[in-house]
Amino acid sequence: MNPEVVVVGGGPAGASCAYHLSKSGLNVLLLEKEKLPRFKLCAGCLSARTLGLLPESRKGLFLNTIRSGRLGFMGIEEVRVDAREEVAYIVDRRFFDLFLVEKAQEAGAELLQAEFIGFEKEESGYRVFTSKGDFFADFLVGADGVHSKTARILGFKKKGVYKSLEFLTGGHMKEEVLIEIGLVSRGYLWVFPHGEGISVGVASAGKEDLTRILKDYADKKGIKYTHPKGWHIPCPEGEGDIHTGRDRALLVGDSANMADPLLGEGIYYALWAGRLVSEAIVKNPSNPADTYRKLLKPLVDELLYAGKIARLAYRFQRLAYKMGKEFALASFYELLAGERSYKSLYWKGWLNFLKNLTVEKLMGIFRGHEGRSVGATPWL
Ligand SMILES: Cc1cc2nc3c(=O)[nH]c(=O)nc-3n(C[C@H](O)[C@H](O)[C@H](O)COP(=O)(O)OP(=O)(O)OC[C@H]3O[C@@H](n4cnc5c(N)ncnc54)[C@H](O)[C@@H]3O)c2cc1C
Repeated sequence: MNPEVVVVGGGPAGASCAYHLSKSGLNVLLLEKEKLPRFKLCAGCLSARTLGLLPESRKGLFLNTIRSGRLGFMGIEEVRVDAREEVAYIVDRRFFDLFLVEKAQEAGAELLQAEFIGFEKEESGYRVFTSKGDFFADFLVGADGVHSKTARILGFKKKGVYKSLEFLTGGHMKEEVLIEIGLVSRGYLWVFPHGEGISVGVASAGKEDLTRILKDYADKKGIKYTHPKGWHIPCPEGEGDIHTGRDRALLVGDSANMADPLLGEGIYYALWAGRLVSEAIVKNPSNPADTYRKLLKPLVDELLYAGKIARLAYRFQRLAYKMGKEFALASFYELLAGERSYKSLYWKGWLNFLKNLTVEKLMGIFRGHEGRSVGATPWL
């Protein structure tokens, strides 16, 4: 095969990119080192806005539908807000990713189970080295996840990863998710339905002992604790952390650090950016990196505003909980449904905060009463 594009990685970013490129008539070779379906540590929660980015005929993909959210504070109090409609879906990443790759294959992409080893620039394209031989391609797309070899070879250094731990266990939770804040310094703990069971996990950019926090929480809540698995979520702290690639070698999804710093949501951005990579290559084959950066602007804005909210919400977690209770959860549903952007959520949050600001509240912030409450696990 003489591919025009080699895409490295068969996760949502690579599969989406391969799908759109193939639909545009390009010859695509999709490299995936694992045999599909493969395990990927992930809570598998897709915001409802993600549906617009998925290929058709996804019947049977969703394990659970989410219509309600609970926001907890330190495991001791919580509020529940029902949404007007479905706001999210849970998938099993093994079959979700397989579905996406099969759609790319149906569109014409060739899948090769092989490990990407490296590449060299050769004339106007790239010589790509894999465990199953070399290929020459005009374009290279790195969609090889958080520890991307493609990004490393292009000279990008990773920073700002959230550590995360997760385990699946028995439990019943039908159409709701629970997010607990106040337990870690920069992140949250979650309990989501996962088919007939539940997934329990924690993610943080802080330095705390996540295993202890997760185990204490499970014990306190009567959740059967099983050994968790750990992985990283690459959340950008500023625009410079979003690595888009250069020339004809582009990066997408986790390899480009495209996960949202507030929620850790990465699938939506991976699918969206995968489509934009394809658009950039088709529109401007001589300098796709330039066009890709321009097309990415709305996506980058989303990640940056999510980061602004995250910095405030995780610095003032008690206040974030109060605001969540009063208005933010409902507004958040609009975001998940694609009716609101992070930018508008950010400004709405400020307006609401100022409208309800009292001297007492302000004093509380300065005294730290409204601030973060990490470290004082209440049941210990
Ligand atoms: C604990 C946890 C929970 C999460 N929960 C959610 C959630 O609920 N919702 C959400 O939206 N996001 C969630 N995320 C984030 C989400 O999993 C990622 O953002 C998403 O998977 C990014 O997709 P991707 O295609 O960029 O990378 P990946 O899904 O990581 O895919 C990369 C692919 O590249 C392949 N690969 C890597 N190196 C090579 C190589 N050298 N050669 C060939 N192939 C290679 C890998 O095998 C893999 O298949 C979670 C992450 C974690 C860690």
